[in-house]
Amino acid sequence: MTKPQQILQQVFGYPEFRQPQGEIIDSVLAGERTLALLPTGQGKSLCYQIPGLALNGLTIVISPLIALMKDQVDALQRRGITATYINSALKNEEVERRYQAIQQGEIKFLYVAPERLLTKKFLEIMIAKPPSFIAIDEAHCFSTWGHDFRPLYRNIPIFIQRLNTNPKLALFTATASAAVVEDLQTSFKVKDKNVFRGNFFRPNLFITLKKFELQSQRFLYTFYLITRVFPRQPGLIYVSTRKMAEMLNLGLKKLDFNNQLQLDYYHAGRTNKEKTQLQEKFLNGEVRVMIATNAFGMGIDKPDIRFVIHFQTPGNLENYVQEIGRAGRDRQFSWCELLFHPQDFELHQQMQQKSNSPSSKQSLQKIIKFVNQASCHHEKILSYFQDPQILTNGCARCQYCSPYSQPFLKTMQEQLTKPSKLPTFIRQQQLILGQNVPMNPTKLLAFGKGMLQ
Ligand SMILES: [Zn+2]
Repeated sequence: MTKPQQILQQVFGYPEFRQPQGEIIDSVLAGERTLALLPTGQGKSLCYQIPGLALNGLTIVISPLIALMKDQVDALQRRGITATYINSALKNEEVERRYQAIQQGEIKFLYVAPERLLTKKFLEIMIAKPPSFIAIDEAHCFSTWGHDFRPLYRNIPIFIQRLNTNPKLALFTATASAAVVEDLQTSFKVKDKNVFRGNFFRPNLFITLKKFELQSQRFLYTFYLITRVFPRQPGLIYVSTRKMAEMLNLGLKKLDFNNQLQLDYYHAGRTNKEKTQLQEKFLNGEVRVMIATNAFGMGIDKPDIRFVIHFQTPGNLENYVQEIGRAGRDRQFSWCELLFHPQDFELHQQMQQKSNSPSSKQSLQKIIKFVNQASCHHEKILSYFQDPQILTNGCARCQYCSPYSQPFLKTMQEQLTKPSKLPTFIRQQQLILGQNVPMNPTKLLAFGKGMLQ
């Protein structure tokens, strides 16, 4: 048995590696600069924790998120591994104490944000006691072609150069387009043979897309999904703007006559305290449905998210795939539905004009193609991530490959073709709300009009 296999069994308790974990680890330990493209939930952290344990000396994990660092460190400590993190949330004395522990060689894994790397004290310590291995998490943040580019990630190569040693190096990301991969390979000198791709096919996710002509229709359909199709299950509703998160939250609550939604909303404008509370409430089920911008999700490890609804089309395919990827981590059947309205792209075009990212225009074109191309959704995703696997006879997990129908929608459409005196969306509302709700046409009419604006 090889050393990594021993560590896998004895420290982590898994019988064997999942592909391509073993290859990634072998590549790192052979001293090759390695790039791993692994979708969330495919055991990414093992791919740097095991080499870290197999090597002598310190492993640095560069991570963009303070919240993630603590979780990872706690998990390692529970396995009896000495790990710590240093970030701006710690008091100076605590940072000092941790620096000392590192200098004394008491730490095996150190998590830091890229902002820390070139600070004077940190650099001094690292030069005096160089790490044997550097793992870069969320590596797409390095690339100006990446959708959440963080300028200080560009410091990493300078930091490595300053060490004046040759530490082993591995980069990890769950979302990287061809342009990002190329940028990372060039900047970190990663050879083609050392680029590894996980499996981007998630067979437990049913992916479907629905186009709407009217905003009000889309709104009511969302209400229908979360009350009728998934009445008790946890789920996420992604929107593109803070304003829409708030509007949708208010709108859905107005329709929530039975108070069954347990709904809240999350965006970057909420206070830190609120954000922490909302994350906790979502994890423990107090909030069942979270309306969120793309600020929500990274580091949220909730295995039983049963549906991810995109109330608006996201601005790029990487965000979309990452967001639907949060559904069904427990590998149970989960529903991913994108609700498209023509105005979505206008919104992104406006946002894009303000942004100076060279890639945003390209990214937008790709998601427009994804939405408009009437073919297997899973296959489109695989091809975007350059995953070579071929789904024979389709995926059986999307609206184009599966006989799965949405009986309710069919009924609704049939009903709507019948003549009636009532305006269309009132009849939709009646159909959606069924018999349980007292009907007040005037109120509903006013409300429906409000949603149209
Ligand atoms: Zn399909």
